[in-house]
Amino acid sequence: MSTIFSKIVAGERSADVVYQDDRVTAFRDIHPAAPTHILIVPNREIPTVNDLADGDEALAGHMLLVARDLAKSEGIAESGYRLIINCNRDGNQEVFHLHLHLIGGRPLGGMVKRV
Ligand code: AMP
Repeated sequence: MSTIFSKIVAGERSADVVYQDDRVTAFRDIHPAAPTHILIVPNREIPTVNDLADGDEALAGHMLLVARDLAKSEGIAESGYRLIINCNRDGNQEVFHLHLHLIGGRPLGGMVKRV
């Protein structure tokens, strides 16, 4: 089933798209956790990290390099940022179209709350 992110990739739903090429689309998160909060998604619908194929190695690497470039253009490369991919229930994944969160623009604190 198609997700909201596929509709954004196709231009059928509005979003604040900051980058797009033939492999990925990047747009601002609708509920930002920090001054910069961008989602980088493959144009092809891949539900979770678990669904990446070995042949997706270049695509996965491309997502990382797009995050690097966006961090630079957002002016947060030097101050720092966090890249997150949530997966399934324990990862608290809400949208089942693979996406890389690029979050920065303020100190982000510890990575995961220790319980
Ligand atoms: P995750 O928990 O990793 O699946 O994160 C899903 C993210 O998608 C959340 O941070 C949401 O705020 C964000 N989100 C959901 N719908 C939209 C939308 N239409 N446009 C932009 N971001 C969205």
